[in-house]
Amino acid sequence: MPRPSLRTRSKKRVHKTLPGGKKTIHYKRGVSSSPHCHLCGRPIGGIPHLSPSETRKLDRTKKRVCRPYGGQLCPDCLKKALKQAARTL
Ligand SMILES: [Zn+2]
Repeated sequence: MPRPSLRTRSKKRVHKTLPGGKKTIHYKRGVSSSPHCHLCGRPIGGIPHLSPSETRKLDRTKKRVCRPYGGQLCPDCLKKALKQAARTL
C-alpha cells in the first residue's frame, strides 16, 4: 500500500524495473500549468509544457521565445503594448 500522499490518481505512475528484476511504481510530481500570457491568459506558443525539473535541463533558448517579453506576453498583447507605448511618447 503506498503512502497516504501517493494514494491519488493526480500523480502520474511510472512502472519501473529495478536492477534486480523487481518491479516497482514510481510517482511523478503533479503537472504544472503551461506558460500563459500575463495579460490575456492565452497559452504562449514555442515553450514546452514540462515539469520544473525537466525545464531546468533545457537550453536557455528553448525555455523562452526570442522576442521582447517572450516568456511573459503573447505576440498580440506585445504588439498592442508596443503601440500604446509609442503613442504615449
Ligand atoms: Zn496575451
